[in-house]
Amino acid sequence: MTSKPATNRQWILNQRPVGEPDKDTLRLVETAIPTPGPGEMLLRNEYLSLDPYMRGRMSAAESYTDPVAVGDVMVGGTVSRVIESNLDGYVPGDLVLRYSGWQDYALSNGEMVQRLAGLAQPSWALGVLGMPGFTAWAGLTQIGQPKAGETLVVAAATGPVGATVGQIGKIMGLRVVGIAGGPEKCRFAVEELGFDACIDHRAEDFAKQLEAACLDGIDIYYENVGGKVFQAVLPMLNAHARVPLCGVVAQYNDTKLPDGPDRSGALMARLLARRITVRGFIIFEEFAPLYPQFAAQMTEWISQGKIKYREQIVDGLENAPKAFNGLLKGENFGKLVIRIAD
Ligand code: NDP
Repeated sequence: MTSKPATNRQWILNQRPVGEPDKDTLRLVETAIPTPGPGEMLLRNEYLSLDPYMRGRMSAAESYTDPVAVGDVMVGGTVSRVIESNLDGYVPGDLVLRYSGWQDYALSNGEMVQRLAGLAQPSWALGVLGMPGFTAWAGLTQIGQPKAGETLVVAAATGPVGATVGQIGKIMGLRVVGIAGGPEKCRFAVEELGFDACIDHRAEDFAKQLEAACLDGIDIYYENVGGKVFQAVLPMLNAHARVPLCGVVAQYNDTKLPDGPDRSGALMARLLARRITVRGFIIFEEFAPLYPQFAAQMTEWISQGKIKYREQIVDGLENAPKAFNGLLKGENFGKLVIRIAD
């Protein structure tokens, strides 16, 4: 655990990475702890969420939103404590959810702040009870359109999105096949999360094993990773399959298209022949009005023991870049959170 710093440590974007972020991508600077003006409060960030989307924000490549400017603090969701307040309605000690970024302290005027109360573990607001959990729920229910008895396949199966997708699938009566990196994650998906099967995408005969686990084909493929996992899934998609296109984390560090022939023509022909729906989505842009419905449902499922949740907590803001690089390679096991302070 880090002690209370006398300055505000900030990870700023130093230069845009080419491929995997390296030691020059981010730079740790120390600035004065800001002073709240009228109508502002000073927040101490206690937990920082690390999420795959942050790789996109480091890059100037076209995306659904603007990148972080070089020299700016890296963006990120935080669970933060009010330290000083000149803002009506907030007092020191209050806990809030906010996008305060990769730093110890931040000022807020109360916009885009969600008050947190009654959570046994506040960091869950960054995971199963927050953005990743909502992404899982909305992508599966609204785009996946599940019907009991269908087969659902989801990769990154032990991460906050994939683990939640699979468990909701079980609640909805689906046959759920996970894909994860390594035997320990696969065992966890089956024995702890209740998936029907889980296949290790690093296995030499991964595609064969997936086929054997999906003898009736795949009705819903919840896409989190792309790359060779999608290549294996595509021939197994049934007529009228739905593909909520949530993320392609296996490709986020790529600098060019994969070698080999252009397969986009074959992909289009397959989508047409099998009348498959592939739909990309960005969670809050599209589904924000459903958030209260999600929050109520997820809180109930968790209290009933129907949804389990695993976190990987890394201590110390200084360790965020290394942990983030690991996230893009599957070194995390569960939702990756940086504990900045108690
Ligand atoms: P995770 O915590 O699951 O971390 C990413 C995981 O991806 C890794 O742990 C690893 O799991 C897997 N992975 C990485 N590289 C590969 C690879 N080459 N092949 C297969 N799997 C790989 O992340 P999240 O649950 O937070 O996010 C999951 C996906 O959802 C991401 O693509 C993210 O961008 C997307 N997302 C999209 C949102 C939206 O609004 N569209 C919102 C939130 C998330 P393993 O070791 O098991 O392979």
